[in-house]
Amino acid sequence: MDIAFDRQHLWHPYTSLSDPTKTYPVVGANGVRIQLADGSQLIDAMSSWWCCIHGYNHPVLNQAVTDQLQHMSHVMFGGLTHEPAIKLGQQLVAMTDPSLDAVFFADSGSVAVEVAMKMAAQYCFEQGLTKKHRFLTFAKGYHGDTFGAMSVCDPVTGMHHKFSHLLHQHLFISSPRCGFDQAWEDHCMDEFKQALAEHHESIIAVIFEPIVQGAGGMNFYSPEYLRQVRALCDEYQVLLIFDEIATGFARTGKMFAYEHAAVAPDILCLGKSLTGGYMTLSAVLCNRMVADGIGTHFMHGPTFMANPLACAVALASTQLLVNSDWQQRVSAIASSLQQGLQDLSAHPAVKDVRVLGAIGVVELHQTINWAAIQERMVAKGVWIRPFMNLIYMMPPLIIEAAEIDHITEALATTLQELL
Ligand SMILES: *Cc1c(COP(=O)(O)O)cnc(C)c1O
Repeated sequence: MDIAFDRQHLWHPYTSLSDPTKTYPVVGANGVRIQLADGSQLIDAMSSWWCCIHGYNHPVLNQAVTDQLQHMSHVMFGGLTHEPAIKLGQQLVAMTDPSLDAVFFADSGSVAVEVAMKMAAQYCFEQGLTKKHRFLTFAKGYHGDTFGAMSVCDPVTGMHHKFSHLLHQHLFISSPRCGFDQAWEDHCMDEFKQALAEHHESIIAVIFEPIVQGAGGMNFYSPEYLRQVRALCDEYQVLLIFDEIATGFARTGKMFAYEHAAVAPDILCLGKSLTGGYMTLSAVLCNRMVADGIGTHFMHGPTFMANPLACAVALASTQLLVNSDWQQRVSAIASSLQQGLQDLSAHPAVKDVRVLGAIGVVELHQTINWAAIQERMVAKGVWIRPFMNLIYMMPPLIIEAAEIDHITEALATTLQELL
């Protein structure tokens, strides 16, 4: 493998070409394991960034792609339609809240967020709500790297200062503070309440990640927060967008994180594990009020909208998930993570250890040399990618208890070695 070319010419996520970080050449992946070119095998604790819920090289998903290849890999969705899109649409409508029954397929998570924001904005325009010109969102959010999505990401970790001359200015409040398991305290709602009371006339929609703020800080918060947000959005007639691109498809212990609170958004973004990590595809669902309120033409239409290969594998992946014992699997992963990580809370460098569903987080007091941690973990046969002061794990749902123990033991040893 021409690693020199990779280093000199290929950007990797969030890296510099003048000073590239280390990359590990991969030659294959199977089940929960990634196979490196040097022959070593890594247990994947990342699901390739929340995506590969069924693991790699899954026979059912492989079959879905090869079957679809025999018919067509792509046709335009403008004026044409096909079975994979229709069946996937039916599946998503059936498995999400009954109010969500209109589906827009897009290419990636970031584009889904763009589409959701545009849907909300066009809805408001068509309703004559012309004073509405911005979104309300939280610190520590992450919604993608395109400009619209970036504009509602955490201003600090999203490095807004480098792009502020190009970014639309939205309204930010603190991230939800009341922890997932903590007793609810009413003051946790004060800032949101006040923001909506003062600014609802200018707010198109509230957009955030329900229950788990992912790439912006791995913050788990109370379902009561969601319930109250929903009630306040109804009271002030402000649209509500949930970005479930990371949390959707069983990761938090519910099929969708909003189920923890038994509320539904007006607009829902799905992505990442939608195709089981096989291909890039996202979906935006909305309710009838939004769909009908948008009027004649919704102004969006990606070239690869509803790509048949991606839809076929997404259908296979969601069916596989729905028909599996995912609740038991996620709770088994949760208890293994809990058990394996709990002793780490006594480590002086560790600020907090938390687990929700198939997500385990070790928060350190200080920002870490994540590349050093990664290198030690790779030497111990585990793939993780920490960021800021956070070491987190969200393994494929097919992972076995012994494999989770391997991950948590490797992490404990690594922390002892380095911190
Ligand atoms: C990853 C992510 C996105 C962006 O998805 P891409 O496919 O990387 O564009 C948006 N929102 C959330 C919550 C995410 O985790």
